[in-house]
Amino acid sequence: MTTVEEHRAVVASLLAPMPAEEVALYDARGRVLAADVVAGTALPSFDNSAMDGYAVRAAEVAGAPVTLPVAFDVPAGRTDVPPLPPGTAARIMTGAPVPEGADAIVPVEQTDGGTETVALKAAPEVGTHVRRAAEDVAAGDVVLTAGTVLGPAQIGVAAAVGHPRVAVRRRPVVLVLSTGSELVAPGAPLRHGQIYESNGPMLAAAVDDAGARAELLRFVPDDVAQFLAVLAERTAGVDLVLTSGGVSAGAYEVVKDALAGRGVTFGKVAMQPGGPQGAGRLDGGVAVVTLPGNPVSALVSFEVFVRPALRAALGHPHIERPVVVARLAQRLTSPSGRRQFRRGVVDAREGTVAEIGGPPSHLLGSMAKADCLIVVPEEATELVAGSEVAVWLLDG
Ligand code: AMP
Ligand code: MG
Repeated sequence: MTTVEEHRAVVASLLAPMPAEEVALYDARGRVLAADVVAGTALPSFDNSAMDGYAVRAAEVAGAPVTLPVAFDVPAGRTDVPPLPPGTAARIMTGAPVPEGADAIVPVEQTDGGTETVALKAAPEVGTHVRRAAEDVAAGDVVLTAGTVLGPAQIGVAAAVGHPRVAVRRRPVVLVLSTGSELVAPGAPLRHGQIYESNGPMLAAAVDDAGARAELLRFVPDDVAQFLAVLAERTAGVDLVLTSGGVSAGAYEVVKDALAGRGVTFGKVAMQPGGPQGAGRLDGGVAVVTLPGNPVSALVSFEVFVRPALRAALGHPHIERPVVVARLAQRLTSPSGRRQFRRGVVDAREGTVAEIGGPPSHLLGSMAKADCLIVVPEEATELVAGSEVAVWLLDG
């Protein structure tokens, strides 16, 4: 039996760091930046007005109230702004360039709003309501460093400094393939003994959520020839094949039967759920991770082994889920020698966590209500209520 860490290392070693690709900014949300983003222009790129109002020489308005002739208008976007003649004001809008010679803005609310002449009722200090060129970002500054995850503000600043595209890490392509002769597509009629296929859409969603890109294959019955045929069609350009089912100790274990001896190693990991695991390179080529079929086992195994490997390949700054320590709301028992990942609901205010559903690995309805995994260490056989446990937050 291997440890959780040993199998994590095996799975992680199957994925190389992803190369960079250029994408349009709008497509960059959630992607990991592959190279620093350098400002092609300063922010602001010119001195401009922070208010709708009048550009003036502060010294000429020191004795406010003062009335000055309005020399010209400066709407936002005007590119041919002349210098401000001495003894005048310019009517100026927010974001418009401050005319040469002007050094302060009097907001329109502190004036009579005149267009020929303007009565200025307040004396501004030099610099009032002027946004200085480069006060936020200087040209040549690194505004985003490689490894940053691009959210709205990051995409915004990349655009603001002039980039229509950014270099991001390519998302690993993960083929998701479910196995089982009992499986039926959701929506089709069910005969007694059949179940709806849930691991495929579930794992594909988990792959996408990790920042990779899933391709969901049609699921196959427990038939080695069909399994291998579906795989063979599709592995070009694929970074990882992710199967579920068919890896435990029974008969008709299609994944094991098809892949054992072809570069994929099967064994038991000291954890629950998710003991039976396999990983390797099919005939020395495409990376394969084989998850157990029980839906909770499959998703927990994904969390423990696959998600961190995908994140590492992406150069993602958050490889692990956020971990917090919480007090158990109830007593738990656990087998010795197995790390258990129980499903729970955190009460962040109280600092407590309550198990939901119990240990069995078919309780997907309970897992769908959980927001965390409770980690019960290998050596623990009993945890009394109030014990402190590590908790992985799943929606973080
Ligand atoms: P297996 O690992 O193939 O022995 O499957 C273990 C359990 O998980 C069985 O109860 C299967 O019916 C169930 N199972 C396997 N694959 C899926 C799937 N894709 N969707 C839903 N349940 C599954
Ligand atoms: Mg099966």
